[in-house]
Amino acid sequence: MGKLDVAILRYLTPEDFRVLTAVEMGMKNHEMVPGSLVASIANLRHGGVHKLMKDLCKHRLLTYERGKHYDGYRLTNAGYDYLALKALTNRKVIASFGNQIGVGKESNIYTVADEDRNPLCLKLHRLGRTCFRNIKDKRDYHAHRNKASWLYLSRISATKEFAYMKALYDREFPVPKPIDFNRHCVVMELVTGGPMTHVTAVEDVEGLYDELMSLIVRLGNCGVIHGDFNEFNIMIDKDGHPIIIDFPQMVSTMHPNAELYFDRDVKCVREFFKRRFGYESSLYPRFSDLQRDDRLDHEVACSGYRRSHHDEDALLQEMGIGLQISDDEASSAEEENHEPEQTSKYSENEIITLRLEVEASIQRDENPSLHNVINNT
Ligand code: ADP
Ligand code: MG
Repeated sequence: MGKLDVAILRYLTPEDFRVLTAVEMGMKNHEMVPGSLVASIANLRHGGVHKLMKDLCKHRLLTYERGKHYDGYRLTNAGYDYLALKALTNRKVIASFGNQIGVGKESNIYTVADEDRNPLCLKLHRLGRTCFRNIKDKRDYHAHRNKASWLYLSRISATKEFAYMKALYDREFPVPKPIDFNRHCVVMELVTGGPMTHVTAVEDVEGLYDELMSLIVRLGNCGVIHGDFNEFNIMIDKDGHPIIIDFPQMVSTMHPNAELYFDRDVKCVREFFKRRFGYESSLYPRFSDLQRDDRLDHEVACSGYRRSHHDEDALLQEMGIGLQISDDEASSAEEENHEPEQTSKYSENEIITLRLEVEASIQRDENPSLHNVINNT
């Protein structure tokens, strides 16, 4: 994974961004977007587009791939990054870029700054790129069909994270202040201090333990479970108080496995305190203790993060990155009969729709006053 060469941002023209956006839109329905389709939905002259695409490939913002039944372009991580960063820059949310400060298993974290040089934290979500590697060379059709999913998964993850962070921040939970998001990127307050895993000694061990357990209960009473409440996702500020980060996996207390997730979060804290500080307490919260007094889960769902757990699981299944790869393989026998997509056949309707989506997206990205609406479209 290359580092962010943001200098490129300055050299990319509006036409470059139009082409990148067209490929992005095309990738909603096609793993590889044929050059002719890009030209058509970018609404630029055909010859010109091919030259632009070639240069974008040279800068590794696009890649060109051809297989037996396919040929076309797709966005690289960097290409997707630039679309989001350009939008955030246009909106004047960020003005300069700093160092990478973290590599999570599903994200890259950078420091950035706004126009007044206030430091901020940028989280780039990266999902769905490693999981399908195992099944990648099985069949052309399958392999290619799965490739577009990372765009979708990464964007959903960022959207979900922002929505939860905002709902929590509004309720004065100790979380970073959410600033903005675009595509797979979330901009938030930069937390000073470090993750709890770096902490070797605290003044008041019992106090910190109680504070963390109270947070788990307070979240639960709001109707949510963090789901990954470990020493890497708990930051400790300079006053020794916890700040919680990393929200894409949060679930409602109505989730069928809620109790399991709740107990796991509690266990994480207990085991860390035992291991690190030799601290054990017989006092810890149980799922049955929760007394719901808020509907944070519902609010986040209503703000646009609507997919039910069932839908989500089904979606992951469909994309071959669910838990049951074997099921996926079993059902793929049927897929064998499917005719591979013809790169030349796109309905007039589809082209018109995509073209409108490209225009709308460019409008949104270029106009700082049109703000993000959290939705799933
Ligand atoms: P992942 O989902 O990949 O685990 P996290 O959100 O947990 O990503 O971030 C990974 C690491 O980056 C954290 O452990 C922390 O060290 C750092 N980090 C994340 N968000 C912030 C922030 N707002 N301020 C400072 N550091 C952060
Ligand atoms: Mg994390």
